[in-house]
Amino acid sequence: MSAEPPQPTGHQVGRDLWRGFRHLLYPATCGGCGALLPPTEDAFCPSCVQALTSDPFDTCPRCASTLGPFVVRSEAGCGRCRAQSFHFERVDRRGPYTGLLRELVLRCKQPGGEGLAARLGELWAAHAGPRLAAMHADLVVPVPLHWRRRWWRGFNQSEVLAEALARAVCLPCWSAAVRRIRPTPQQTAQPAAQRLENVRGAFRAKPSPRLEGRTVLLVDDVLTTGSTASEAAGALKAAGAARVVVAVVAHDRA
Ligand SMILES: [Zn+2]
Ligand SMILES: [Zn+2]
Repeated sequence: MSAEPPQPTGHQVGRDLWRGFRHLLYPATCGGCGALLPPTEDAFCPSCVQALTSDPFDTCPRCASTLGPFVVRSEAGCGRCRAQSFHFERVDRRGPYTGLLRELVLRCKQPGGEGLAARLGELWAAHAGPRLAAMHADLVVPVPLHWRRRWWRGFNQSEVLAEALARAVCLPCWSAAVRRIRPTPQQTAQPAAQRLENVRGAFRAKPSPRLEGRTVLLVDDVLTTGSTASEAAGALKAAGAARVVVAVVAHDRA
């Protein structure tokens, strides 16, 4: 005997009706390519979802670098990170910093990019939720901007992403856990060798029972050398965190 398909709840019917009605009045457009969306979608079209959620490469579990076709994945790291010491334990990425993912990460930092960051965060969470849950974190913390940059931009895109991830994995998000105590020149403007010096001592976290013995999931938009995430992780550990694991939208193999 075949099982009856599950019946939609009243809440789902109401939500779908509202979505259809809203779509008639204001047809939604894809946050990636701008195409008109079908009534069943309200963030990205199917081909942008495919482009934003598929990572064609195997990655290093320690630093999230793309691994070449003949490189064996190892918990000890890859040729790029094995000689580096990090305050975090591992990195999970949505994809490489190329194509549409790179374009959207850059657009998220533009004025008005907060809504796009929220949509990208929700998509990321919907597709990476189980992997992130497997990192066994107790709370989610974004890599902070210095207050002046945050004030100028009006929001921190990593905070918007962190909030979306935290909702999806049912964890608290604590945006004020770590602060950037001095402004630092953009890491992308620095040669790789100077990036660690550029951010050394740039973060501070207050010791707190909320961090004591906990595993923190640290969230950022892009990771390149890992220096920024490592310094922020070091501050969280100095304030009591036991472990820090990192989730980034994109890994930039600079
Ligand atoms: Zn699209
Ligand atoms: Zn690595």
